[in-house]
Order: sequence, then C-alpha cells, then structure tokens
Amino acid sequence: RDHARPLEERTQKSRAFHERAESVTPLGVESNVRSFDPYPFYVEETDGSYVYDMDDNEYLDFLLALGPIILGHGHPEVKDAVKRQVDKSDLTATPQPVAIQFMEKVVEMTPSIERVRMANSGTEATMHAIRVARSYTGKDKIAKPEGGYAGAHDYALQSVYASEEALGPADEPNTVSYGTGIPDAVSDTVVAFPFNDKEATEKILRKHADDTAAVIIEPVMFSCGCLKPRDGYHEFLRELTDELGIVLIWDEVMTGFRLGPQSAQGRFGVTPDMTTFAKAAGGGYQVAGFGGKTEIMEEIIPPKKKEESKWNSSAFHGGTYNGHPVAAAAGLKTLEILDERDVYEHIDGLGDRLFTGLQEVADDVGIDANVQHVGSMGQVYMTDADIHSYRDSWKANEEQFADWWLESAAGGVLFGNPMQGERFFTTYTHTEEQVDHALEVAEDAFRRVDH
Ligand code: PLP
Repeated sequence: RDHARPLEERTQKSRAFHERAESVTPLGVESNVRSFDPYPFYVEETDGSYVYDMDDNEYLDFLLALGPIILGHGHPEVKDAVKRQVDKSDLTATPQPVAIQFMEKVVEMTPSIERVRMANSGTEATMHAIRVARSYTGKDKIAKPEGGYAGAHDYALQSVYASEEALGPADEPNTVSYGTGIPDAVSDTVVAFPFNDKEATEKILRKHADDTAAVIIEPVMFSCGCLKPRDGYHEFLRELTDELGIVLIWDEVMTGFRLGPQSAQGRFGVTPDMTTFAKAAGGGYQVAGFGGKTEIMEEIIPPKKKEESKWNSSAFHGGTYNGHPVAAAAGLKTLEILDERDVYEHIDGLGDRLFTGLQEVADDVGIDANVQHVGSMGQVYMTDADIHSYRDSWKANEEQFADWWLESAAGGVLFGNPMQGERFFTTYTHTEEQVDHALEVAEDAFRRVDH
C-alpha cells in the first residue's frame, strides 16, 4: 500500500526482524492487536513521551501501551519503587505488605470498592468479577453491550467485532462469539444489548432478569473508539439493575484511574456494585483487580469450609502472580502520584488541546472526521456521522484511518493503533509543544490520505 511505504523505508531492521519473529510466533507478535500490515516495527527503548524502534526511529507516543502509561514512560519514581522492591523481595506465595498497601490505596480512591482482589490483566479481572457476581446472585447469564471488549476470555468475547449480519436486529442483537474455539454454549449465557438505547436495553434486561447475574459495561465505550454515554444512560442502568437484582459491574480497565482519581465513577457520579481495573493502575506494570461491595466480594471467602465438605467452596479466586510485589510497588507509587499531583489537570488539558486540535486540522484539510474524547482519551472517526453506538462506529472509514495512521507514524507520531476501534491518550510527560507538533504531523498526514 502506498501509505505504508514511507514507514517501511524507515524500518528495514524491523522488517528483517519480523521474519525472524514469524518463525517463532504467529504474526510475529506477542498479542494479536500488535500486528498490522505490512509488518509492525519493534520497539527497543522508551523514555518519557517517546518510544524508539530498532532502526533508531523516534516516535512521539500517544498509544501509550493501550492506556497504562499515564505518567510517561519510565517515570523516575515508579522506576525507583520497582528497583527497591526487586532488591527487597520477589514472589513468595505468602501475602506481602506492598500488595495490601496497593489495595488500601485502591479502596481509598474508588467510590464503589469496599473490598478488592488483585489480578494480572484486565481479562482476569473481568473473568473473576463475573464469577463472583454469578455466585452472589445464583444466576448464570451476564449482559453486555454489543461491541464492548471486556477481555479475551470466552464470556467476554461475545458480540464484539461482529458483523451486522451476525448481530441481527439492532434493538435485540444476537449474541455471537468472536472468533473460533469458543463453545456455542457460552453464547447462550451472554445477553447483548445496544449501548445508549434506553428503551431496547430495558426491554432486553427485563426479559432476561431472572437469569442475569450481572451487566458488565464500560462507562465510556473506548473499546469502540470513544462512545460517550448519552445523558442519563448510566443513571438509568443503575436504577434498572437495582430493581432487577442484577449486579452492575463497571469495566474500568480502560478508564480506571485515567478519567480521574476516582475513575469514571467519580467523574460521572454513578456508583456501580463492582468495578474492574487494570492498565493505568499499574503505570505500565501488570496490575489489575476487581472489587466492590463487601457483601458481594465476600463470595470469595469459603464460608462453608468448616461446616461442610472442604470441596464446597464459594467463588474461587486465585493466581500465582496475583499481587506480585514488583508490580504492586509500581502500582502503589503510580496511585500515590495520581492522587497527590496535578496529573489529571495536565493530561485532560492536553487531551482537550490534542483532540479539539485534531478536529480543527481535519476540518481545515477537508477530511470528514468526527473526533470524540473524554479527558485524556479519544479517537478520530473518519466520518462526519454522529456516533453513539457500536453500529454507528461502522460508518467510519477504516482504510482511510489506517492510511492516516501510517502516514502519521512515518512522521514520527503514534496516534494509537491503525484501527478505528482503538483510541489514544495523553500522558503526564507530554507538553503543549509536543501536542502542537503532533497536530502538524497529523495535518500533513490528513493531506496525504485520499479524500
Ligand atoms: N476491559 C476493557 C474495557 C479493555 O479495554 C480491556 C483491554 O483493552 C480489557 C478489559 C482486557 O484487559 P487486558 O488486555 O489487560 O487483559
């Protein structure tokens, strides 16, 4: 593709390395979304607002590891906390104070979390949260908005990245698995509903209320780019789930500790029953977790172990690496900085500058673009259509976006990933000058794509 050529010319070492990588791992990458055509570049170093590939190209980074890098790459105090913890202890499979201190901080900062447990990824966090909600309610099904990505386990990979044909009617979508290898029976335990459509959401949840343990939903659907909730939608869901005896889980893996010290729930003033988090909570290290009301989280405690068979446990939660001391030390330091400094003022201010600036330069060039953002996170949809739902987001021109992304990357700026369903971020080390430079590169790239 023509628009890939400028990047290819700069990344010849990565091209050769890609062949080597493909000989040991499918697509030559560690995780599917890191792959793009014709080949990805391999990053060897990171520093503040920048990443450097193996051809020594510098990229101003707004991808930020898909969200975790909220303080910039290699924040000195986080690095120091990691180094000190490495010197102090490694894994023990006995509880360690640093992980408990991290969890204390999560409880202190997050309105909905009275009790919390740790995991290593957002995927694990949502999987465990769903199990606990099922245990608490004694019901089997979960409900989620179509298009919402809640991790890579079987129950989460339902009605995400699906075609219109497979999803069927917009007001009562089918539940379909993403990809192969997932038993059909799993789809029978998941109910899909359309985000932002109160009437359809209510009809579907009422219909399945007797079997539905939980609604799991992102406060802003960043897994479809950046779908903002319509006014009152979350308040409505809060009331409805309360009435129907359904646990409301906010999947704050993307938004947690990113949209404010109290996450999206503090920003929007709605308190779910349970919350999952990951990404920004660890400042780049493998920290994740789930928490909520004490009564719900105590489903994890095996209450019957004394009276009944030792096999009769309640909802199981375990994991060799849960609360890894090094990751917990990074997470604790990250949360302390997020809680005490002007991080949100800085990243949200730069988010406004970046995303409104992108709309302006796209308009100047004459590209049909709809730039959406909340605080430090947003996406450029290549369409002039309004976007409130997953299906609306299909109106955006995927190919044009990928071309713009490739041209921007060749210009040394990473606006997330080359996919419309992704999003990108500002970070604490970004400056106004860097954002303004990024806007110049973006404008130039808009001019180069077909429109
Ligand atoms: N939930 C949401 C909303 C996400 O955006 C993601 C990842 O992007 C996940 C869950 C899964 O997190 P992880 O990639 O850490 O497994």
